[in-house]
Amino acid sequence: MNEKGLLIVISGPSGTGKGTICKELLKRNDFWLSVSATTRLPRDGEENGKHYHFLTKEEFKDKIEKKDFLEYAEVYSNYYGTPKSYVLEKLEKGKDVILEIDIQGALNVKKTYKEGVFIFILPPSMEELKNRIVNRGSETPESLKTRLQSAHKEISFVKEYNYAVINDTVEESVKKIESIILSEKCRVKRINDEIDKNFINFKCKE
Ligand code: ADP
Ligand code: 5GP
Repeated sequence: MNEKGLLIVISGPSGTGKGTICKELLKRNDFWLSVSATTRLPRDGEENGKHYHFLTKEEFKDKIEKKDFLEYAEVYSNYYGTPKSYVLEKLEKGKDVILEIDIQGALNVKKTYKEGVFIFILPPSMEELKNRIVNRGSETPESLKTRLQSAHKEISFVKEYNYAVINDTVEESVKKIESIILSEKCRVKRINDEIDKNFINFKCKE
């Protein structure tokens, strides 16, 4: 058995369904979702400490200086960051950790934490992406435009990821991600020590 947990990084353009998929993944699996810090204002129904740790810009900058983040990025004029100590602690304890973060953040994590699994969520089409953001009702016409323009640019980074999941239905997407995680846990390089201990270096008793 591999003792350390798996770091699963999920990203993709805004509105593609990451939040919905992660919620479903957490319902069905014993994963731990990292709660990010952000300087953006809470949306209706969002709770401090549950959806995000809502910080002022000063508080966020203080944490940057203290190197408290595994990664951070500026997204749509606000800062977002992954608290480092929680994530590393959970991984050490063998917990599988999900980071739902933007593309810049994911690529930064990839540089420092190569053992992570990087999954990009794509919408079925750009038209459907627009519909989903509009139906979510969270954006002003101006921020909708910004998010759609960014989406085009962001999708070009899909090739830096290990896996791409087209989010047609939530059910199918969740099943695909669960399969990816299961396969990753069977990779020889991840269970190498265990194979050595139990088989390669195993001495048969006469
Ligand atoms: P993100 O976290 O990527 O910004 P959300 O999870 O908030 O995206 O999803 C954006 C909107 O699309 C939400 O209203 C959500 O209910 C809807 N949605 C997510 N996945 C699907 C899907 N597979 N089919 C239809 N609607 C979806
Ligand atoms: P939203 O404001 O819609 O909640 O999130 C905007 C974007 O910020 C999404 O793409 C989301 O994945 C990303 N995001 C959330 N938390 C983090 C984080 O800790 N780090 C980075 N780099 N991006 C994040």
